[in-house]
Amino acid sequence: MANKIDILGAAAAIAKGMGVTFKEMMSPTVTEYYPDEAPKFEERFRGAHVLQRDENGMEKCVACFLCAAACPADCIYIEAAENTDKVRISGGERYAKVYNIDYNRCIFCGYCVEACPTDAITHGHGFELASYNTSTLIKRKEDMLIPVPGGAHAPVVTPETVGAH
Ligand code: SF4
Ligand code: SF4
Repeated sequence: MANKIDILGAAAAIAKGMGVTFKEMMSPTVTEYYPDEAPKFEERFRGAHVLQRDENGMEKCVACFLCAAACPADCIYIEAAENTDKVRISGGERYAKVYNIDYNRCIFCGYCVEACPTDAITHGHGFELASYNTSTLIKRKEDMLIPVPGGAHAPVVTPETVGAH
């Protein structure tokens, strides 16, 4: 009698296990075929930083240095410059003439994003940052700044106009 119960128990366990197997076989696959297909990210994924513009095409960064002060890895380097009547780059008094992030040091903690009062710096979804040459891991403002939105006109910045400050 005990043997019969053991066999029935084993058969039930096998049936249960096979049920799970068949159920999973019918489920949609979750395999991501990177790099042949772009991976999917959660909205809050912290990838490479993006410097934002407002709806008029002005840079949102006003060079307040709060992101650099909040950065625990000390990897943000900013040089500020004044906006003038002739050359206006941001909506504030100042703008970031130089804005670098050193990805050799960045730990993607997001403190810079949280500290920014103008939502100028955000995390994008860029993740392909690995490099054998560490000098390429210092990203400049030009690498991070989004294009001017359609219809807006970005201010023209030349070495002469920037040098006029
Ligand atoms: S994500 Fe963190 S470590 Fe990277 S630049 Fe921002 S504050 Fe610094
Ligand atoms: S990105 Fe934001 S916090 Fe950093 S300097 Fe610009 S405005 Fe200030």
